[in-house]
Amino acid sequence: MYDLIIIGGGPAGLSAAIYALRARMNIILIEKMAVGGQIALSDNIENYPGFPSLSGYELMTKFEEHAKGLGLTIVYDEIKEITDNVEYKTLKGAENNYETRSIIVAVGASPKRLGIPGELEYTGKGVSYCATCDGPFFRDQDIAVIGGGDTAVKEAHYLSKLVKSVVLIHRRKELRAEKIIQERLNHANNVSLKLEHIPVSINGDKGVESITIENVKTKERTTIPVKGVFIFVGIKPQTSFLHNVDKDELGFIKADPYTLMTSMPGVFCAGDSHSKKLLQVATAVGEGALAATSAEEFVCDIC
Ligand SMILES: Cc1cc2nc3c(=O)[nH]c(=O)nc-3n(C[C@H](O)[C@H](O)[C@H](O)COP(=O)(O)OP(=O)(O)OC[C@H]3O[C@@H](n4cnc5c(N)ncnc54)[C@H](O)[C@@H]3O)c2cc1C
Repeated sequence: MYDLIIIGGGPAGLSAAIYALRARMNIILIEKMAVGGQIALSDNIENYPGFPSLSGYELMTKFEEHAKGLGLTIVYDEIKEITDNVEYKTLKGAENNYETRSIIVAVGASPKRLGIPGELEYTGKGVSYCATCDGPFFRDQDIAVIGGGDTAVKEAHYLSKLVKSVVLIHRRKELRAEKIIQERLNHANNVSLKLEHIPVSINGDKGVESITIENVKTKERTTIPVKGVFIFVGIKPQTSFLHNVDKDELGFIKADPYTLMTSMPGVFCAGDSHSKKLLQVATAVGEGALAATSAEEFVCDIC
């Protein structure tokens, strides 16, 4: 019987682990893939205070070392279900079952799909959701990037340094990314913008050969030859396994803003899977700290 089980080894889960271990709680962290979470896939992070520029992987290695230095045990398993037994909770994993007095759900999010013809067919054959992982395969090729937020514009800039040309396709009149990121993209001379356009199909044979886009006003369609399509159109929370906790209409978990306790007593949430405005490493870390502090109070109260 643990005091606390943290589900997810991204920034929120590791921050929660650091706070819980310093409170001398008996905890484990369960991760289904690799510790580090989404940010470990980013080539560069420049807005995490104290670190003007480093890769996501480097930052998350520091988080992991910090937590392990305090004695963190990481268990590799995928949690499929949580059951509330009032006095304690049972977590059903793909490999094992676990019992605990409290839980922090820090399961983050995964990329949203466009849902257009060719996307699924060419995933891994030219369609990608990770510039750091797949960018180097497109050296000296023409590629398209879809999206207009921080991640899309930042990754388009990163890719522009590797590839021959980038066409950035965005459905609105203006990009939504931070101005500093947009300014940097403007200096890249191999990037063109297709604003007020949406992708309608990704075409090819054995791999991607082109993308067809549509002008949102005139409905005119154009086909652009590209070898790669990088998609950054938002994320969806990885919360489908949570059937007995209140969520918003998009599946993000609802929680009390002061404690981060969900609708199931003793179950807290933190990071990108929590319903809120800003999904970033800094907010995930803050919420991990808050959720761990609340979990400690909850466990003290029931013991
Ligand atoms: C390409 C890219 C660039 C980004 N750039 C920046 C940036 O520059 N600055 C910034 O602040 N933010 C950036 N972000 C956003 C940032 O990565 C997220 O806000 C942050 O990672 C959220 O942390 P998290 O711990 O909530 O979730 P995640 O990082 O998503 O971690 C969740 C973890 O939970 C695990 N998990 C999920 N479900 C289960 C389960 N059922 N059982 C066990 N484990 C599970 C996952 O495998 C994952 O490791 C970027 C994101 C991307 C994709």
